[in-house]
Amino acid sequence: MPTTVGSDGWGRILARSHHVKGLLRCLEGMSPCVWNVRHGEMHHVRLVRKSATCPPSGWFVPDGACALCARAPSTGEGPVRMGICVEVQVLGAIAGDVIGSVYEWHNTKSLDFELFSEQSRFTDDTVLTVAVADSILSGAPLVELLRQYVLAYPRRGYGGYFRKWVESGSTSPYGSWGNGASMRVSPVGFAYPTLEETIARAAESAAVTHNHEQAVTAACAVAAAIFLARTGVRRHEIQRELETRFGYDLSVSLEEIRPSYTFDVSSAGSVPQALRAFLESTSFEDAIRRAVSIGGDSDTIACITGGVAHAAYGTVPPEIRSAVLARLDPRMIEVVEAFSQRYGVSA
Ligand SMILES: [Mg+2]
Repeated sequence: MPTTVGSDGWGRILARSHHVKGLLRCLEGMSPCVWNVRHGEMHHVRLVRKSATCPPSGWFVPDGACALCARAPSTGEGPVRMGICVEVQVLGAIAGDVIGSVYEWHNTKSLDFELFSEQSRFTDDTVLTVAVADSILSGAPLVELLRQYVLAYPRRGYGGYFRKWVESGSTSPYGSWGNGASMRVSPVGFAYPTLEETIARAAESAAVTHNHEQAVTAACAVAAAIFLARTGVRRHEIQRELETRFGYDLSVSLEEIRPSYTFDVSSAGSVPQALRAFLESTSFEDAIRRAVSIGGDSDTIACITGGVAHAAYGTVPPEIRSAVLARLDPRMIEVVEAFSQRYGVSA
């Protein structure tokens, strides 16, 4: 939900999706209350207050001249004071993908690089992550949603075998050992109440396409890392658990990995490195920078690291979140917002 707020506290909100159910809430005893805003409507708003429960950009109250606040939808009384929550949570994996997108083909080996540029965009990692989130939310079979999302968002850098699988119409997995199942698995890490269920669901989500042991193991490790991080398990215990359960050696530092690391889309050749980037990190942004700094399949590595880092640090920083949201499609934002609300993925 893009906003600009001037020094006088007045700004504008442009509705980008057909309705923003869940984003608009009445203040002062009228919550919860849903307003439908038509696509393309512009509303004039004024920042009036922030509270502990508000997202960083706060709550906005429409101008009295705005049709939105002229009447309360439930009582017909008006004008009412009304707040608009303008921040949508974004999954850390998506932030990692968008930031890494420009470095996949122009690797950097530095921690000091521009997070966003005109070329930054969401790629296959984001599309398929949203498909997994949608499947968890709706209960629709993942195999169908993967295909639907690829058709809805073509030309986003899908792997060759995966694209062929989509085009073939097959509902059988194709034995891939690539990192595609790990890059899309992060919603699984946020959605289930126990580690065992998380791992079981991660294996299922991988196996619809990537039914190679290497790929299934990696997807399970990523989901497990997210579960452990979001439930407050300490860093060194997460490392030990991942090494014990999944057989990874996560002791090799990025400093050792970086000089000789090159493009590698295998699960075994990219997922441990992504997990290591998280283990060495000091903040969400630092985790993403470390992930990109080894080079290779940067958007996917940063996507995997980003999911775990989001779970560990509890949030995606607001300035990163808004830069990512500005590059997402409204339909994706709705799914991500619904998922975040359902599973308490928040700041
Ligand atoms: Mg990609």
